[in-house]
Amino acid sequence: MEIEHVRSRFIKHFDGKTGNIYASPGRINIIGEHTDYNGGFVFPGAIDKGIMCEIRPNGTNKVMAYSIDLKDRVEFDINDEKGPKASWARYIYGIIQEMKKLGVDVKGFNTAFAGDVPLGAGLSSSAALESCFAFALNDLFGDNKVSKWDMVLAGQATEHNYCGVNCGIMDQFASVFGQEGKLMRLDCRSHEFEYFPFDPKGYKLVLVDSVVKHELASSAYNDRRKSCENVVAALKNKYPDKTIETLRDADWDMLESVKADVSEEDMKRAVYVLGEKDRVLAVCEALNAGDYETVGQKMYETHKGLSKDYEVSCEELDYLNDIAKENGVTGSRIMGGGFGGCTINLVKDELHDKFIEDVKAKYEAKYGKTPKIYDVVISEGSRKIC
Ligand code: ADP
Ligand code: MG
Repeated sequence: MEIEHVRSRFIKHFDGKTGNIYASPGRINIIGEHTDYNGGFVFPGAIDKGIMCEIRPNGTNKVMAYSIDLKDRVEFDINDEKGPKASWARYIYGIIQEMKKLGVDVKGFNTAFAGDVPLGAGLSSSAALESCFAFALNDLFGDNKVSKWDMVLAGQATEHNYCGVNCGIMDQFASVFGQEGKLMRLDCRSHEFEYFPFDPKGYKLVLVDSVVKHELASSAYNDRRKSCENVVAALKNKYPDKTIETLRDADWDMLESVKADVSEEDMKRAVYVLGEKDRVLAVCEALNAGDYETVGQKMYETHKGLSKDYEVSCEELDYLNDIAKENGVTGSRIMGGGFGGCTINLVKDELHDKFIEDVKAKYEAKYGKTPKIYDVVISEGSRKIC
């Protein structure tokens, strides 16, 4: 994203003066799917696509915001009880309220912003937007006193309290804490995290957006959570002396021992969750060793688990996975909750162009839709540009 793109609009749509510029990225998740509510690990990284905003205090209590991409302008008072109606402006309104709760004395400002994270594709454009403004408000009005973690939580609270999205912590975490060439293993229970090198020379990361979203997603999500809880209940029963809060606390022997106490379906779900825990740990080792072939293999295993055991895939995503395999792609899997959205693919440089051509042609021929393709590079988190 070019600074000039944002600056020229900021100047044009306001009083001609310039302000400060901030940027925050979207994210990918290499492995660790449906693990957050099971107390497990996720493994995100920030990408080279994000939101950039220019912002300048205006000496009033009003926010005048211009969305460059939507060509929409919204004004609201920062102390207004209800806030704006436009959904994009609610993210800004929400983060203002949450930063105020953290002691930042937010005043009115003019802002224009733009982004190159595709909206609603599972790369978390909303977290990029929240983190960008959290970072900007902290710098302009808060002497940078709010910690990175508190900004992450403020972004999450914005989704919960003002945008009606009951999300976890991964997206905002990745956007704020991301580093170039590093993925982060985040423990969803303790919030501890560790950076791992991700410098796949000779490979590219490619997202293939199936451009489908199946209605099933939210009810299936609740069903999967319930299945996991059922197995935890059976484990608690069997092991009254052990502390078992989530499937994180179970090992394979324990799971095997409650086989007769849970339904076959619930068992399959738990098998996926325990398998994913092992795969995340295997990926840590592989990343430290620079072994991207193993990383890729684990991605395929995750896809299989999500498709066959957790059953959150769909025909289109399985087809994209098959095409990846046929093309000799190193790793490929569903990214995100499933039932649509993107696959994430680790592709050797020399296979990249042919894979993209092939996936477009085959997917189009079968479903009459063109998948969207995004190459991404693991990049820096939220920052001040100037
Ligand atoms: P995602 O998976 O991309 O986070 P969401 O539905 O959570 O999808 O967030 C998308 C919403 O975030 C958009 O509907 C819009 O309100 C806001 N948004 C994200 N990026 C932009 C942008 N570049 N310009 C305006 N609004 C944006
Ligand atoms: Mg979002």
